[in-house]
Amino acid sequence: MIPPIASRFVAGESAATALDHARRANEDGVKVILNLLGEHYERRAPADADTAAYLQLIDDIAGSGLDACVSVKPSQIGIGVGEDAFRENYRRIVAAGAERGVFVWCDMEDADTTDATLDAFEAAAREYGGGVGQCVQANLKRTGEDLERLADVPGKIRLVKGAYDEDREIAYKSKEEVNRKYEEHLAFLFAEYAGDVAVGSHDPKMIAAAEELAAEYDRTFEVQMLMGVREDAQRELAAEGREVWQYAPYGDKWLSYFSRRVRERKENLLFALRAVAGV
Ligand code: FAD
Repeated sequence: MIPPIASRFVAGESAATALDHARRANEDGVKVILNLLGEHYERRAPADADTAAYLQLIDDIAGSGLDACVSVKPSQIGIGVGEDAFRENYRRIVAAGAERGVFVWCDMEDADTTDATLDAFEAAAREYGGGVGQCVQANLKRTGEDLERLADVPGKIRLVKGAYDEDREIAYKSKEEVNRKYEEHLAFLFAEYAGDVAVGSHDPKMIAAAEELAAEYDRTFEVQMLMGVREDAQRELAAEGREVWQYAPYGDKWLSYFSRRVRERKENLLFALRAVAGV
């Protein structure tokens, strides 16, 4: 069982608890992106097992009437085994999502996997004409060129600052630079991207920048935030009419995910402790 301290950030260990969480979030006007925890598999068996779990989850979501979708990680569905394994599993998940009307996101992991991930997304998006979304990272120096390449690809793009510690030859390292690039890429997406824009950030400055761009270009966008982070803001934005999606991970591999949230921001431990103590 997930201890109360981690349950702020993780929607239980099973698909059933995750769907219950999605139901409660939907009641607050917040839609949910479900992610089964698991990454860095180097053998085919766990990659195939998690792929099968996503196929089942897509079925469950389709039959639930919930505002929910899924997000997968390349290293969870086979990229560490080989590109063919990843492509095959990704295609199975995307095909199931297309058949059942469930949107499929793909997270972006470390820079060694960027090319294979973008290739898979582009192929799927062009084949299905949408129904898929891809995360891109503002901290990577290559992202401007990647966005130009993706400009006419249907689907959705989630812009994040980037969570992986990359080499300075290929990545911006200072917060200021990453924030500057984030705003620059956001402006490009609003001006040029043919699909829909998702702002994957808790940063009020980035959300305000997106609001301005949306007004300037007369476009909509969605905000995506993590479960357990700024949930008041998630509900408030949804109440104001903004489309808000909460990324909610679930599953028994919750410990490393929880540790990451705490490493990223010490206040998260404090929040979690307060939630446990009821203060
Ligand atoms: P930060 O730069 O961390 O913080 C900026 C400001 O936001 C803070 O000053 C504060 O005002 C506010 N804020 C941030 N955190 C909190 C908090 N806990 N409580 C209160 N205020 C806070 N990264 C990847 O590399 N690949 C992915 O596929 C990926 N997917 C993601 C999906 C979603 C939905 C989200 C939200 C993030 C994802 N990330 C991913 C992580 C992302 O790259 C960042 O590491 C992470 O979101 C932190 O950056 P930030 O933009 O939220 O703001």
